Amino acid sequence: MYPIASHWLNYIDGDWVDSAQHLSVNNPGTAEPLATIAQATVEDAERALLAARRCADSGELTRARPAQRVSWLLRIAEEIRAVADEGAWVLCQENGKSINDARDEFIEAARYFEYYAGMADKIEGTSIPLGNGYMDFTVYDPMGVSAQIVPWNFPVSICARSLAPALAAGNAVVIKSPELSPLGMCVLVRAIVKAGLPQGAINLICGRGREVGAHLVSSAKVDQIVFTGSVPTGQSILRDAAANAIPSVMELGGKSAAIAFADVDRKQLLASVKNGIFFNAGQVCSAMSRLLVQREIYEDIVQAVVELAEGLSVGLGQDNPDLTPVVSAAQLAGIETLCRRAVDEGAVLATGGEAHNELAGHFMLPTVFRDVRADMCIAQEEVFGPVLAVIPFDSEEQAIEIANGTDFGLVAGVFTQDISRAMRCVRRLRAGQVFVNEWYAGGIETPFGGVGLSGFGREKGQEALYSYVRTKNIAIRVAGE
Ligand code: NAD
Repeated sequence: MYPIASHWLNYIDGDWVDSAQHLSVNNPGTAEPLATIAQATVEDAERALLAARRCADSGELTRARPAQRVSWLLRIAEEIRAVADEGAWVLCQENGKSINDARDEFIEAARYFEYYAGMADKIEGTSIPLGNGYMDFTVYDPMGVSAQIVPWNFPVSICARSLAPALAAGNAVVIKSPELSPLGMCVLVRAIVKAGLPQGAINLICGRGREVGAHLVSSAKVDQIVFTGSVPTGQSILRDAAANAIPSVMELGGKSAAIAFADVDRKQLLASVKNGIFFNAGQVCSAMSRLLVQREIYEDIVQAVVELAEGLSVGLGQDNPDLTPVVSAAQLAGIETLCRRAVDEGAVLATGGEAHNELAGHFMLPTVFRDVRADMCIAQEEVFGPVLAVIPFDSEEQAIEIANGTDFGLVAGVFTQDISRAMRCVRRLRAGQVFVNEWYAGGIETPFGGVGLSGFGREKGQEALYSYVRTKNIAIRVAGE
């Protein structure tokens, strides 16, 4: 347990600064106020943009040899590891997630900096043969100022996911933290600035999305937008970004399906269901929110999944239960509303479906719907809570059709012992990432991103670095050849 400051600040142009107005941050486990944070204004956002612009234009991040950026990033990783325990406590209290998962977020954040440190001195262009009389090559320039808008579900690791490659490539950054869970990110940035980056390279502001977020993404001072969040916000940002033709990376929502064939390894599947839909109280963009089960094993799997859900421990994040609270009262109400609509449409509620009324915080009962039809709201809309829709299927063809039958396409999963069947499905699934026999296989090294309304652009892995640079071609006329 660590003491949590009662008031937190924004980081702008090298200083921690207050604002006239404050936002309240609550503990979802107790529904009580935890702390306040300075509520950034449009003027604060403008100062942060100016600082980042100045830093980017000064070339300070790129003037030295790339080895300098490697050392900055490695030092940052060390500093993050040093605050992992304290940061985990803050994140667990403000967000509701388990203390172990909160600590994992900080360690993952450190890993992003280590990973992209390994690339910061290998951003190499190509040489293009044009025959005699010409030399031609490409270089990768940083984009300049990267505006990064972060959601509340994994604020620390998602922040590091975009910040590390942005700095590796030499960009200056303005980050907007989420109103509901901004404190862990303050701990993160406090650690990062100890590495001694040039002034203005990193700015962190917490403010209202529609005011401060919208200001950032509409600004002509921004060269790139990285957004992780909901589809409607992503669409609004894209409209704003269009005015200045700002390139964007969009990591949006999902309604991802796991397909379990009759030959599935039952134990492996159930472990994946537990992690896939109940980890972080189901508030994961790539959650396994649909489970498609072949008819022969349907009854057996439904029963096992219901037993699993009913056997989960539910409690405060600090006690590391299986299921933690959701982030807010509004989030809980939204989940309950969607569950009621599912029942009205004829989905059979096998367990849960409502808030946990014995606990003071925002707890949702682990919920399983069975006999779900592919066109029901519970099979089409993102719930962002611990709610699983189980859908029967008869053939491989039908399973693919159902899995691909939403507007989203973030991840998908195939569970079978038949490698050829798995590979056939992998080819046909419309998703940015496909898991075979383990949900959430992969890691910071594997490219991640969506298809359709799940967004575009890729984060993680080597590929992500190239979202933070632009290619410049240099074509030279060589006289005398
Ligand atoms: P949200 O869209 O409500 O908010 C995300 C961020 O955008 C917040 O910081 C918010 O303040 C800001 N924002 C809101 N309106 C804005 C505007 N008009 N202009 C600029 N910024 C604005 O999302 P959320 O509720 O914080 O997060 C949940 C959603 O995020 C889910 O849909 C989930 O699937 C998605 N998500 C996606 C990924 C991914 O990598 N694909 C990861 C995590 C969460």
